[in-house]
Amino acid sequence: MNLILLGAPGAGKGTQGHILSERFSIPQISTGDILRANVRNKTQLGVRAKEYMDKGVLVPDEIVVSMVVDRLKGDDCISGFILDGFPRTIRQAGALEETFNGMRKEGGIAPFIESVIGIEVDRKTLVKRLSGRRVCRKCAANYHVSFSPPQNIGMCDKCGGEIYQRDDDKEETIEARLLVYENETFPLIDYYTKKKLYRAVDGTGAVDRITKAVVEAIEKGSHNT
Ligand code: AMP
Repeated sequence: MNLILLGAPGAGKGTQGHILSERFSIPQISTGDILRANVRNKTQLGVRAKEYMDKGVLVPDEIVVSMVVDRLKGDDCISGFILDGFPRTIRQAGALEETFNGMRKEGGIAPFIESVIGIEVDRKTLVKRLSGRRVCRKCAANYHVSFSPPQNIGMCDKCGGEIYQRDDDKEETIEARLLVYENETFPLIDYYTKKKLYRAVDGTGAVDRITKAVVEAIEKGSHNT
């Protein structure tokens, strides 16, 4: 299963991606997580990416595209993958398609994107989720100060790691990120609808209900193709 999870920041792509990754035993490829790991390790890529991420704007396409293409070459992607947070622009989507087409032309095997699931959440809920979100520095588990706080303040229930607020989850950056989503990522809905790959799911309410809806949407898609 080769899947793209689309949705605004705070829509729940990370949460659903994590659940689906375990259920279907395929990797969740989160460009945000890969970029944050690079920032943490102060790699050259991380230093370049940080200035964009801190402002809530997108890291240049060429950086992110080559990062994803490299990751997709991993052996663990052979039986499928979940792209979480990529593509985020029409250019990124085009570059992904061109890469796969290029691989096929050279006689190699390349994956097809089978499903694009859009997790739809209203703006007010997104702001509430993002401003209260806390993340484990070690295992990237997600918490929320009011909806799902950790048992011990500041400590991850799963791994004991330190829980922090992402710089770009601070209120002044949230607006910028939502605007970037509306201007740059939202057009992908039309892009993938035209390719008959897009299916929308209501991303509000209980996590397991949303997972069920996502799985149904994936299955519905695979019957259509
Ligand atoms: P996320 O964790 O997906 O919300 O991503 C956090 C930040 O990483 C974004 O605000 C961007 O600055 C950057 N980022 C993540 N994915 C991409 C992408 N596909 N293209 C460009 N920038 C990205």
